[in-house]
Amino acid sequence: MTSPPWLEVVVATANAHKVREIHDLLRMEWIHLRAWGDFAPLPEVVEDGATFAENALIKAHAAHAHTRLPALADDSGIEIDCLDGRPGIYSARFARPTATDAENNAQMVRLLADQPPPYTARYRCVIALTGLGDQKDHLFEGSCEGSLILAPRGQAGFGYDPYFVPHGLTTTFAEMTLAAKQALSHRGAAVRKLAAFLAGRRP
Ligand code: IMP
Repeated sequence: MTSPPWLEVVVATANAHKVREIHDLLRMEWIHLRAWGDFAPLPEVVEDGATFAENALIKAHAAHAHTRLPALADDSGIEIDCLDGRPGIYSARFARPTATDAENNAQMVRLLADQPPPYTARYRCVIALTGLGDQKDHLFEGSCEGSLILAPRGQAGFGYDPYFVPHGLTTTFAEMTLAAKQALSHRGAAVRKLAAFLAGRRP
């Protein structure tokens, strides 16, 4: 940790994969990222927004209210064209409310198997930042176009990554290094925008 003045920001997610990807790209010596779990007992946060942005703001506002620190939150998911954009904001709970990645992936494969390929899709990510002292909410968005396969490949990443092949490539996100995924991914794009914004706010 660096000496003050630093900016403390709480990352309002319990998803260890998201936290790792956000930390990886937000390495500024003057920003001290705090884990949401450090502030237990945590309030229950109901993600009942209609969009990625609304849900990201719900989580960021809840974290700021609970910690009084500036807070950032990621809401993300995958939109599959032949499923009319599903699962979208319901990506984490596609199979059922507390589904595992394996259950969600099985649900996706089951629905895709009834459809003709190619299975075009895109990942979307919205990061909300609030509580900086400017009384504003800030949103940073990223997306990544690609297509889905029915047989998983690769061990890296999380969620739908073993099935997602970014446009123009033949490897899935789960077959790539973190750096390669970040260069292309929805979250990588959103975090780079956030990093550029924060760089302009250096105390
Ligand atoms: P959230 O936590 O409500 O934003 O839901 C995010 C869900 O979207 C995750 O549980 C995954 O199912 C999916 N998702 C978002 N980003 C990624 C990614 O980078 N790789 C794989 N799945 C992702």
